[in-house]
Amino acid sequence: MVLNVYNTLRRKKMAFIPRKDNRIQLFVCGPTVYDYSHIGHARTYVAFDVIARYLRYKGYDVFYLQNITDIDDKIINRAREAGVSWEEIADRYTKAYFEDVQALRITSVNKYAPATQYIDAILRQVRTLLEKGYAYELDDGIYYDVSRFKNYGKLSGRTVEEAEDTVSRIDEVIGKRNKADFCLWKLLKPGEPYWESELGKGRPGWHIEDTAITETEFGPQYDLHGGAQDLIFPHHEAEIAQMEAASGREPMVKYWLHTGFLKVGGRKMSKSLGNFITIRDALKKWDVDTLRLMLVSTHYRSPINYTEAAMEQAKNSLNYIRGATRAAKKKVDVKKWIEKFVDAMDDDFNTPKVVALLLEMGKRINKTEEDLSPAIYEIGEVLGIDFRLKERPLPAELMTLIKKREELRKQKRWAEADRIREELKKRGILLRDTPEGTEW
Ligand code: AMP
Repeated sequence: MVLNVYNTLRRKKMAFIPRKDNRIQLFVCGPTVYDYSHIGHARTYVAFDVIARYLRYKGYDVFYLQNITDIDDKIINRAREAGVSWEEIADRYTKAYFEDVQALRITSVNKYAPATQYIDAILRQVRTLLEKGYAYELDDGIYYDVSRFKNYGKLSGRTVEEAEDTVSRIDEVIGKRNKADFCLWKLLKPGEPYWESELGKGRPGWHIEDTAITETEFGPQYDLHGGAQDLIFPHHEAEIAQMEAASGREPMVKYWLHTGFLKVGGRKMSKSLGNFITIRDALKKWDVDTLRLMLVSTHYRSPINYTEAAMEQAKNSLNYIRGATRAAKKKVDVKKWIEKFVDAMDDDFNTPKVVALLLEMGKRINKTEEDLSPAIYEIGEVLGIDFRLKERPLPAELMTLIKKREELRKQKRWAEADRIREELKKRGILLRDTPEGTEW
């Protein structure tokens, strides 16, 4: 079956065909590094990690690029609050982000591109937009004129007028031609970081960094662009307006993929509500396999509600699947199970269906002792989840108790043997007596 993906640009599922041969250029909007990343970020980044892993599993040659927004108002404000330089904040949280990425087992990204390393490319794009008449200068910066771009709104389905209504008052700069116009190059304000340029000392606007990075790394057109749904408007709409206007080519991106938002306890995560959970805090409580299984149990386009109950359920499912592999004894051909996995993933990366399939496989092993574990581990590689049983050695004292119980059983001293079983159970160890001996 061919891979079908839901393309936000076309508002429908469509067959996925890379622009050139077998190669896929994938770009996903990375974090603004002014604080620790939260589990909402984990939702989006794990989703695209699984997507990239699956595309490689299908045999595509994927180059996965992610930007890092390391210059931004939020970084400057955080630095002021903390009384340190903006570079120090950006550096601290970039490092923290990489630690989180590693802890989340996100291994699919080929290159991370910090915006500050692309200032020349950013300036080149701004200059092109000025020359082509898509940009204009005001006292505080250079702005993009959305009314000049005839396809403005094609991704989000908004007209320029509708877009204007959603622009916050913060963005209302005196002299802007249209309310929805956005800043490409912010001219220097006292005390703010800046770069020298013939356009005036200043720093980049948010939208331009991504198109400068992708144009440098991929060229003006590429295959796949991802991010969460909050970015469709205005961010991704602005990216299209900038790049297609600058290059005169369309589409900038063939397939746009957007993840649903993660909420905590049914509410938007926020520090004031006290429901803000960082990735590092979540991973203190739950292991990465449990967290990833919880995340992939929902389709990437649907919203996720993070709750303790959902995490418990993921933990139970993980233990169930792992536990089943212990019962796998009879060698069988697992091809048909792999085919079911591929069918589910080919349908717009339907990971909840894959989780249901894994549970079905667990059930099947428990019933028939068929060894489906090679297929389970293969699927696990794509999901980034380790389904191998982790046999931690028991403390010597407990091993001695298990041996003692076996002796007692041989001597048919059942009551004493049962007392030991109960004692072990209290300490979280379950025993299973098999013809080959006692398993724990
Ligand atoms: P930010 O650092 O806020 O610019 O976000 C970086 C990436 O994470 C973007 O793709 C966002 O759309 C995504 N993101 C931020 N918050 C959430 C959330 N609560 N759920 C899902 N994705 C999110």
